Amino acid sequence: MFYLDPTYFLVIIGMVISLAASSYVKNTFNKYDKFHSKKAVTGTDAAKYILQSQQIHDVGVQQISGDLTDNYNSQKKLLSLSQATANSTSVAAIGVAAHECGHAVQDAQNYFPLKLRAAIVPVANFGSAAAMPLIIVGVLLSWNSFLINLGIAAFSLALLFQLVTLPVEFNASKRALTILSDGGLLTEEEVPMARKVLFAAALTYVAAAFATFLQLLRLVLLFGNNRRND
Ligand SMILES: [Zn+2]
Repeated sequence: MFYLDPTYFLVIIGMVISLAASSYVKNTFNKYDKFHSKKAVTGTDAAKYILQSQQIHDVGVQQISGDLTDNYNSQKKLLSLSQATANSTSVAAIGVAAHECGHAVQDAQNYFPLKLRAAIVPVANFGSAAAMPLIIVGVLLSWNSFLINLGIAAFSLALLFQLVTLPVEFNASKRALTILSDGGLLTEEEVPMARKVLFAAALTYVAAAFATFLQLLRLVLLFGNNRRND
């Protein structure tokens, strides 16, 4: 299945775009990690302060290892900040911490795309795991169109998950920037810097969705007509 057919360039384009996006977010974070906020609070303190100010009292804040591994877990009610975010007083760190708080606020307010995303996770995981086996078995069974189409449909669930992720991410950043400027954690000059960091982070989700779309397009081009190309 992984031979170099002409459609393989779609996968390569997707990989290049994803790599470019992740290097862009790292560079942007590093750039604004050098700007120390006037308030001089750490990412962890900013997160705790924001959660309190938003009347969210059931969410814990912890530090985790890794690079840009910051995340919010709605099931565990746990906000995890990477070391670079947790201990830094930079504009970038406070921006990322506030973004994760944005997810906690979405959760507290039952923001629909967040709930939908959580509901799609198991289906999308199953879909992306089952897609290639279904297609392979379909091809082996003399191009069984039912199995091949089922495989392509299963893969499209992974794309659906990534598309639903987009409003969740952009909305969390929007909430974060409003909270940061209204709450005075960042100054008027600092908010646009945090916006750049969060925009770069959001682009990685756009890149991931686009890469998955290209992979789906490849599957459709290769197998969509359900006929042997000989
Ligand atoms: Zn996020």
